[in-house]
Amino acid sequence: MKKLIAGNWKMNGNGDTAEAFDNDMEEVLNKYSHVEWLICPPFPYIASLSNLQRGAQDCSAYDRGAYTGEVSAAMLADMGCTYCIVGHSERRTLHMEDNKLVRNKVKQLLSHNIRPIICVGETLEEREAGQAYEVVSRQILESLSDNITSENAVLAYEPVWAIGTGKAATLCDVTKMHGMIRDLLKSSLATAAKMRILYGGSVKPSNAAELLNADNVDGALIGSASLLHEDFIAIGKAVEI
Ligand code: PEP
Repeated sequence: MKKLIAGNWKMNGNGDTAEAFDNDMEEVLNKYSHVEWLICPPFPYIASLSNLQRGAQDCSAYDRGAYTGEVSAAMLADMGCTYCIVGHSERRTLHMEDNKLVRNKVKQLLSHNIRPIICVGETLEEREAGQAYEVVSRQILESLSDNITSENAVLAYEPVWAIGTGKAATLCDVTKMHGMIRDLLKSSLATAAKMRILYGGSVKPSNAAELLNADNVDGALIGSASLLHEDFIAIGKAVEI
């Protein structure tokens, strides 16, 4: 499977910037097709992407009905989304999302053939207390649904303390955690043993080559650096062929 270079624009941009970004990527997508490119814009701008693969940043845990403000997996499929981020730490913290809710979202997405990008990661307090692996493994075991396979979903290890801080995890921390996640998948979720594991948290052009070519790092989930197309491209180009 190709490495996945996924951009999460969060609540940034507008229709014009999304269209311009998409146009600027057209040539790059053909030239650097050794990686898989994806952008997850805010819901209203998903349709502004026509060259880039479309993703969403969240979806409802429900199928349809009286859920004001929610967007269902069926609607995302209708918009041409192939991936959707779930369980991002900002949603876990600001919207009190727990593993059970994330798991229900995963089920919704899989039933509409959209690949969930399931985010997991420990806080600084948890890391300092020596609980990083325990927290991450619980998030994985409780968020993944039974019908997960290596192909139909993606994990993103995003230590909370590295998101938006400019301070990425060290190569040593990343390879250690990704190795432990790989072992956990092999031992507890055999159908998902080869699932791609992305790293996220202050990935930028200057640290991309080191992080993206490490063992068990199958791509990146990129926040702020995905808003500048030069940086986003530079990160994808750093993946060795
Ligand atoms: C993110 O929000 O998923 C993220 C990784 O953000 P940043 O790259 O800005 O740290």
